[in-house]
Amino acid sequence: MDYDEIWAKIEAASERRGRESSDEALRAYREDLRKPPPPPSVIPEPENLGDGVLRFRCPICPWYYDEQMDSQSPGRVMLSADFTAQDLIEQLAVEGEARTNALLVRTEREFITHYADKHPGR
Ligand SMILES: [Zn+2]
Repeated sequence: MDYDEIWAKIEAASERRGRESSDEALRAYREDLRKPPPPPSVIPEPENLGDGVLRFRCPICPWYYDEQMDSQSPGRVMLSADFTAQDLIEQLAVEGEARTNALLVRTEREFITHYADKHPGR
């Protein structure tokens, strides 16, 4: 085996490893998406009803607010022409974070409105 052959084998192995770790990162990212977001102060801990539905219950009365996680279509992901798997994963993470923040803002707005309407002075 000459130097070129050895080098070709090393390159092939490292390419394979790179692809595997990208797949792993993508899988971890998808698992993160399934987890409910951390609740900020005004929003109670959500109940996971399955099928991507999160239920936020009012701690005072039977009112609740449901969020359908899967109903939000992914936004636009901007990539350069020579993008790598890592670029794509990072962009998807940014986009996912934006969607989570949008969900928290919507939920918080619902709770603020509910508190003002049904539990004034709270
Ligand atoms: Zn209430």
